[in-house]
Amino acid sequence: MITLNETHDPALRSWVTSANDGKTDFPIQNLPFAIFRRQGTQQSWRGGVAIGDQIVDMAAAVQAGLFTGEALAPAQAAAESTLNHLMSLGNQAAGALRKALSSILAEGADQQSIVQTCLVAQSVAEYALPAQIGDYTDFYTSIHHATNIGRLFRPDNPLMPNYRWVPIGYHGRSSSIGVSPQDFQRPCGQVKPADADTPHLQASPRLDIELELGVLVGQGNELGSPVGIEQAEDHVFGIVLFNDWSARDIQPWEYQPLGPFLAKNFASTVSPWVVTLEALAPFRAPFTRSEGEPQPLPYLDSEDNRSAGSFDIELEALIETPTMRAAGQAPARLSQSNYRHAYWTAGQMVAHHTVNGCNLQPGDLFGTGTMSGPSLDQACALIELTSGGKNPVILPNGEERTWVQDGDTITLRGWCQRSGAARIGFGECVGTVLPARAL
Ligand code: CA
Repeated sequence: MITLNETHDPALRSWVTSANDGKTDFPIQNLPFAIFRRQGTQQSWRGGVAIGDQIVDMAAAVQAGLFTGEALAPAQAAAESTLNHLMSLGNQAAGALRKALSSILAEGADQQSIVQTCLVAQSVAEYALPAQIGDYTDFYTSIHHATNIGRLFRPDNPLMPNYRWVPIGYHGRSSSIGVSPQDFQRPCGQVKPADADTPHLQASPRLDIELELGVLVGQGNELGSPVGIEQAEDHVFGIVLFNDWSARDIQPWEYQPLGPFLAKNFASTVSPWVVTLEALAPFRAPFTRSEGEPQPLPYLDSEDNRSAGSFDIELEALIETPTMRAAGQAPARLSQSNYRHAYWTAGQMVAHHTVNGCNLQPGDLFGTGTMSGPSLDQACALIELTSGGKNPVILPNGEERTWVQDGDTITLRGWCQRSGAARIGFGECVGTVLPARAL
């Protein structure tokens, strides 16, 4: 498990002054990675590291000879057009690069004048997916979400008996995962209203959000070689925000017996900045099971997982309707939750996913599942917030929302904050729904 080191020192400041205001998501203690280029150009995509409101252009920084020794190979990998190679090198290599970046960005660094020539303002950047995502698995790790959804779909049997034993997931589709800001058309699909005898094809009115985190796999494992829980986090590179858009009218008609299909694979949005597990080290939390809940099977259990397998990550979802946009009103919060509500940890997801010998590859994505907390205002999907569409959410300007309407923009945010550590954040995950194409 990655422990604290000098890169986490809350007293550390950067010569990039915007990194020191205490409010930025990207102080020198964070140093997340993305793939970027200057907006409106045909420049090559390359890796970058966020610092305050700037980006360290890793291609330029490598060219300038800023990295040597153990940091050189990961720095070269971080300059490529996807982060897959960097991810494949493992967390020790990423840690060496983090140490080097921290040192050249710290106040008083000898290299300041050279690094300055490698900075690009985030305000003029556009982003690509951080990795080529080979496979995407969506888990279901909030027991509160699983219970709320289960109650709507199966009132007499909300939580299936396997839930408390198996980190439930399904294999999703990666081709429709896009980077924030993602605009996409409302999906069409087959729906069958309860009072209809037969289904029909239509644009889905019951379009929903799912506020999740995305866990990006680092080093892979060989087919046939399970990853034990003790080594599981060595295979996790970092975490992004993830909106797993869902069509709630397509879903109930198609999901039995093989699970989600077209209700889920038309669009999913990730935030551009990957926050590494090392950056999250100050915000670890114990993995606990409340009274009466069974303990995990031994292959999902370890001392480290129990003492610090969870992460304290605050999460929120906001909505901006076209009316709000026209009136210049700020986005309104739909919900606020925390990754600590997960019933299964990232390490347990890796250990379970590979226990049958399944091979993970660098850049694979795990959705955590909708990260709803125990109370209604912590529900992270509209289907829960509106009790299945029965009770619309009233927005501050008086508008109502039961489902996402055309032109609505949903923004997810995440951040970590505690005394004795520098606050870090994930940036934003933004998606806008466009009208469906004509049928
Ligand atoms: Ca999901």
